Amino acid sequence: MRRSSEPDVIARYAADESNTFFAEDVQAVVFPEDEANVAQILREATAAGTPVTVSGGGTGLTGARVATDGGLVATVELMRHAEPRAGFVPVTATHDGIAYTVGLDAAAGRAWCPPAITLDALEALLAPDLLFPPAPTERSAMIGGAVAENASGARSFMHGATRAWVDALEIVLPTGDTLHLARGEVFAEGRTLRFASREGTQYEVQAPSYAMPATTKNAAGLYAADGMDLLDLFVGSEGLLGVITAVLVRLTPRPTLFSDTAFFASEEEAIACADRLRAAASEGLPLLSLEFYDPGALRFMADQPQVKPEHQAAIFTELAADDPQTVEAFAEIVIGSDPLDDWFADTDREREAQRDFRHALPETVNTFLRQHGTDKLCTDYAVPAQAFPAMMEAYREACDAFLQVTGRPEASAVLFGHIGDYHLHIDFLPADAAEEDASMEQYAMLAHRAIELGGTITAEHGVGKKTLPGEGRRVPYLEVMYGREGLEEIARAKLAVDPAGILNRGNMLPAGLLDAAR
Ligand SMILES: Cc1cc2nc3c(=O)[nH]c(=O)nc-3n(C[C@H](O)[C@H](O)[C@H](O)COP(=O)(O)OP(=O)(O)OC[C@H]3O[C@@H](n4cnc5c(N)ncnc54)[C@H](O)[C@@H]3O)c2cc1C
Repeated sequence: MRRSSEPDVIARYAADESNTFFAEDVQAVVFPEDEANVAQILREATAAGTPVTVSGGGTGLTGARVATDGGLVATVELMRHAEPRAGFVPVTATHDGIAYTVGLDAAAGRAWCPPAITLDALEALLAPDLLFPPAPTERSAMIGGAVAENASGARSFMHGATRAWVDALEIVLPTGDTLHLARGEVFAEGRTLRFASREGTQYEVQAPSYAMPATTKNAAGLYAADGMDLLDLFVGSEGLLGVITAVLVRLTPRPTLFSDTAFFASEEEAIACADRLRAAASEGLPLLSLEFYDPGALRFMADQPQVKPEHQAAIFTELAADDPQTVEAFAEIVIGSDPLDDWFADTDREREAQRDFRHALPETVNTFLRQHGTDKLCTDYAVPAQAFPAMMEAYREACDAFLQVTGRPEASAVLFGHIGDYHLHIDFLPADAAEEDASMEQYAMLAHRAIELGGTITAEHGVGKKTLPGEGRRVPYLEVMYGREGLEEIARAKLAVDPAGILNRGNMLPAGLLDAAR
C-alpha cells in the first residue's frame, strides 16, 4: 500500500472546495486499494491513537475531508474497481483516462460501486439505459463521498436524496472490524442499534434522541429515528463511523428529458408558477427538478443572451417525459403563469444550451470571487412548505442588508436553487474581508431563522467543521440545531464504534468535545 509524507502530496489533501479549513500536522497520506488495506490502517491507528481522516473527491463544502487534527489522510481514490460478485456482471469503462469497474445487475437495476467512482464516471458507465438518480451538482464527487454526505441535488425533487438509493454498504469500522450490511437486515429497538461485525465483535449504538425535521431535506447530524434501519446510521454520517468500501445502489431507467426556463416580471409570479408546478407534480406530472433564480441571480448573469433587463425571476424545470400530452399539460401551467419569455428546450442542442445556462451562475460566482480573492458563503437551509414565505422574507432582508454594505446591486448576493423542495441557496459575493464579515452576520441570522421555522441548517452540504459566530465564541454549527446535548449524543454514538476517537475528528462536533466524552 502506497504511503507518502512528501509535502506536495500532503498539500493536495490540505483543503476541500470550501477553501476555509486547512489540514495541520499531517504525517502522511495513505492510499488503500481494498477493504483489507483500510482495515489495517484503522486497526493500527486505533491501537496508536492516530487520527485518520478519509478523503473522497475533495468536493465537499464543509471541510469534512480536511485533517485539521493531523495524523493520517486515507484517500480512497485508488479503490476504483468493484469486487466480483455472484449475480453481478463486471462492467469496466474509462472516464477521463481512469478505468472504473462496477458490478451490474441491469435487470434488477442495481450496481455494486467502488467508493472512488465519480458520479460523472458512474453516469457515463451506466449510459445509455440506466441512471443513478440523485444528481448532486458537482459530478467529480465520488460515490463514497455522496453516501457519507447523503448528497442530493436538483433532481432530488423527484427522486429524494442519496439515502433512498442505497441498498447495501460495506464498511470498515474505526476498530478495523468490517461490516457488510444490507437494508432491512438490522433495525433499532427504539433508538438502540445492536449488531455484530463480521469478526464477531458485538456493538451497541444509541442513536441520538433529537427530532430531525420531518418534512424537509436534511443533511444535519447522524440520522436518528425510532425503529430505524442500521444502514441509515451510516448514510450521511460524514465518515464519523467508518470507511465505506463498497456501495450497492439502485438505478432507474434513463428517462427522456424535456426542459424549460421561464422568465417572469416578478419574483411573486415565479413563485406562484413553482407552486402550481409542485401541485401538478403531486398529482402525477413527472417533474424531475424545479429550480428558481431571483433578480440578483439574473442581474449577475446579465451577459447571458436569454436574460433581459425586465426579467426579475426565472423557473427552470426538467420533465422526465417528452410525449406531447405531458408536455402540453406542463406548458399549460407555465404559459398560464404568464411568463415574459418561455424558453422550451425540445432538441438536444437547446437542452445543452439550458444546461450551460444553469452552469453559468456558479461559474460567474466563482470568477467574481477569484478576482476579489474572497470566499463564497453559500447557505443551505430548507424549511417546511408552510414556512417558506417567512423564509423568503428573511432571505430578502438578508440580501438587502448585505446590499447596504456592498452598494453593488449588480453583484451582491444571488438567491437560487431547489424551490421544489423549499431549499434555496444564497451565495453572498463579498469583495473584501469586511464584506466577508458582513455576509457571515447574515448567514448566521438565516441559520437561526431556518431553525425557528422548523427547518434545517443544512439540506445537502452537511456540517463538517463549520461554526457560527455567537455568544462571544465560534459555536459548532450543529449545536445551533440540536444543542450541546445533541452533540454529546453524537459523540457517544461515535465512541461506541470508535472507542479511540480516531476517525474524521472534528466533523459534526469539535474534537475536544469528543475527547471529553471518552
Ligand atoms: C460546485 C459544487 C457544487 C456542489 N453541489 C452539491 C449538490 O448539489 N448537492 C450536494 O449534496 N452537495 C454538493 N456539493 C458538495 C459535495 O460535492 C458533496 O458533499 C459530495 O458528496 C462530496 O463528495 P466527495 O467525494 O468530494 O467527498 P469529500 O469532499 O472528499 O468528503 C466529504 C466527506 O465524506 C467523507 N468520505 C468520503 N469518502 C468516504 C468513504 N469512502 N467512506 C467514508 N467517508 C467518506 C469524507 O471523510 C468527508 O467527511 C457541491 C460542491 C461543489 C464544489
